[in-house]
Amino acid sequence: MKTQVKTVGIIGGGPSGLALASMLAMKGIDTTVFDDGKRPDLIVGESLVPGVVPVLRKLGLEEKVKEIGLHKPGVSFTMPGKERVNFNFRNVSRCGLPEYAYNVPRPAFDRLLDDRATELGARRVRARVKIEVPAPNRLQLAPESLALAPWLDGQQPDLLVDSTGRARLFARTMDIPATAGPRKDVAHFAHFEGFDENEPRGQVIIGWLARGWNWRIPLPGRLSVGVVMNRDDAAKLGDTPEERLEAAIARDPVLAAAGTGRRRVTDVATYTNYQLISARGFGPGWVMTGDAFGFVDPMLSPGLWLALRSAELLVDHLDDLPAYSRRMRKELKSWMEMISHYYSGRIFSMYHKGVSYGEKYPSDYCRAIQLHFDSLVACMACGATTSSLYGRGMLKVMSSPAVWGREAKELAIK
Ligand SMILES: Cc1cc2nc3c(=O)[nH]c(=O)nc-3n(C[C@H](O)[C@H](O)[C@H](O)COP(=O)(O)OP(=O)(O)OC[C@H]3O[C@@H](n4cnc5c(N)ncnc54)[C@H](O)[C@@H]3O)c2cc1C
Repeated sequence: MKTQVKTVGIIGGGPSGLALASMLAMKGIDTTVFDDGKRPDLIVGESLVPGVVPVLRKLGLEEKVKEIGLHKPGVSFTMPGKERVNFNFRNVSRCGLPEYAYNVPRPAFDRLLDDRATELGARRVRARVKIEVPAPNRLQLAPESLALAPWLDGQQPDLLVDSTGRARLFARTMDIPATAGPRKDVAHFAHFEGFDENEPRGQVIIGWLARGWNWRIPLPGRLSVGVVMNRDDAAKLGDTPEERLEAAIARDPVLAAAGTGRRRVTDVATYTNYQLISARGFGPGWVMTGDAFGFVDPMLSPGLWLALRSAELLVDHLDDLPAYSRRMRKELKSWMEMISHYYSGRIFSMYHKGVSYGEKYPSDYCRAIQLHFDSLVACMACGATTSSLYGRGMLKVMSSPAVWGREAKELAIK
């Protein structure tokens, strides 16, 4: 069906805005991306899930991402007592996804998206955009911002998209509330040389800490190391982000051992980490994508998948914004639910018990069940079936303390 939307103004040139611009340009829709050009050298969002790869292919970018990034075969989790659980993405081909993903330096990744959008014909304006509310629930570009895109001939775009990430331009302008999740953390991270190489090469490691958790994401020539913890706990580690990151590494036996020869090669970046879904994601002639619609949590790395998925969903529902919003809300809620099972320790408890039952009662039946659950969790954590009713229901029941006992509490992330 041909869309009624002929012109689109996207505010924000991060992954969601740029992927959307490319997809709209592919459909021949006149698209303008306004971005303030404020991209720091160090940006979080370096680890992708396999669900991102089909979108990269759709954008014609996989080969270029392969050149700037590192092949990611899977994710490992370290738990209390140095135990390590390894997941590789082999299982996810069952749900139609590639058996790998990539780790990417974000500035280079964003540049690829930017160049591709321009190549496909999306127009660019480098400026911080201002918007106005001419009537309740209505939005438009302020005259000075509209004037920056002379090809619009002074006409407001048919659709205005908020892709401003955590700046949440539309929500802040219209005082749209949000549903917040339970975690209110802070993340400090930097790039290092001299850490032990993650095994196998390219594997992302998520580590349990006495307080909070950490990531080790291998990038070409360096390792991204980040710690995520409650703000009060972080404050106890030092006065500056540098002191806190250093102290968090030094006091964790696993990180300290892997980083004996470490050298920090960048500044330390700080992000507040929260979980939030906008109470409204669209209105007449406006809509939100990516983090501006909802931000889940860095655990399991769903951010870029959601950013690119929101672009895909919006292109499919340009004339049915309520349907787009319902789909996005479902994805966001499903990821939040899944991630809460990791924070509560339930997933690890289920995994532990599954392994010990398999050892105690070795049989084809036990192995088949274990394989089924490995595949179920992998497909959900990769973006293929995160919102499936069956997966969500099974995970909730099977990871329940009623099934496996109370061990989850010890594995929970504080
Ligand atoms: C600690 C942490 C770790 C993370 N790790 C991962 C990970 O490993 N993997 C992953 O997939 N995700 C991760 N994420 C999430 C990921 O970074 C985001 O989900 C992703 O960047 C969202 O993309 P976006 O396009 O929605 O927004 P953004 O990337 O934030 O882009 C928004 C753009 O809008 C611009 N802008 C803002 N206001 C205006 C304005 N008024 N006018 C013009 N331009 C404007 C900004 O400058 C920016 O360029 C992490 C997040 C955190 C906090």
